[in-house]
Amino acid sequence: MLNAPLPLGATIGMLGDGQLGRMLSLAASRLGFKTAVFGPEDGAPAAQVSASAIVASYDDEDALRRFAASCDVITLEFENIPAATLEFLTGLGKVVAPGAHALRITQDRVLEKTFAREQGVATVDFRAVDTLDDLKAALAALGTPSLLKTRRDGYDGKGQVWIRDASEAEAAFNAVGGKPSILEAKASFTREISVVAARGWNGEMRAFPIGENHHVNGILSTTLAPAPVSDDVTKAAHDIARRVLQGLDYIGVLAVELFVLDGDVLVLNEIAPRVHNSGHWTQEGCVCDQFEQHIRAVTGWPLGDPSARCTVEMTNLLGDDILDWPRLAAEPQAQLHVYGKAEPRPGRKMGHINRIKS
Ligand code: AMP
Repeated sequence: MLNAPLPLGATIGMLGDGQLGRMLSLAASRLGFKTAVFGPEDGAPAAQVSASAIVASYDDEDALRRFAASCDVITLEFENIPAATLEFLTGLGKVVAPGAHALRITQDRVLEKTFAREQGVATVDFRAVDTLDDLKAALAALGTPSLLKTRRDGYDGKGQVWIRDASEAEAAFNAVGGKPSILEAKASFTREISVVAARGWNGEMRAFPIGENHHVNGILSTTLAPAPVSDDVTKAAHDIARRVLQGLDYIGVLAVELFVLDGDVLVLNEIAPRVHNSGHWTQEGCVCDQFEQHIRAVTGWPLGDPSARCTVEMTNLLGDDILDWPRLAAEPQAQLHVYGKAEPRPGRKMGHINRIKS
């Protein structure tokens, strides 16, 4: 718990060194803070723009001690930081936001959906799957098509396999490596939306306008925001975000991905306990963007104004898309964001472009 806002010049520790950490560091520096990055990769995107960087694995206790000594508060940009790392840092007397409890729940798809239901938030029907027999029973209960996902470590559509017929059970279980999994009923959604929202130390909450998301091969391709949804959908999505933030006793920014079913019924797909790709549009689209909002929340500053200034279409630049930078950089009414990654491997998030629509 922070008892007072952190002063100008304080140092924010960042667990994780990717593009989200990079954009958080840039936002922090705009408010006069310094950042110290902790992550596994030398010269990573966040380390390039931070005052200091420690390159080490998340279980290296000596490195974590050195990191902790330099930080006034610690946050994260990557949800698969081991909860034990957060507990270790908390044990050193450090303030860590969001906390280990929020991470434990959101790192596991079964715990996450169970939590959502406990908060009165609808999810698709699901069953936990530990064995092939569990999977067969789950398929009998949920029917096909249904989607088998690993409980942990899945992102951007990885660790997921559609099952179209019960006879595919064994092949599907092998395809996810026989790992503890979840079987989900297919959501027949009309659109996918997300809500990004923040909660501060005093319990105050602010939500951004809704984004409408389009995925290609399981990876986010574009977000259009504010999305053309009814006021009722916006209200319902904001209400879900508030329940999730309060239920997790969460400090910082998080994202809730939702399916919109017929009749504008909302169903939670996933919670990301961090700033989110579907919130990148806020950089050009909102008075205070998601990165600054997260920094404000974890440092005990007043939350910023999340209202929209314009409509933005955010497009991810994956792999070789980034090689088109001379043309993208010349576009009017657009802002190019490049993450500083050396190698444009296929599907790798290299940057994004925010195009102002109105
Ligand atoms: P996830 O990694 O859970 O966010 O899933 C990636 C994408 O797969 C989602 O954005 C949806 O497009 C699709 N998807 C995930 N779960 C389901 C489901 N239960 N029913 C239908 N589509 C899904």
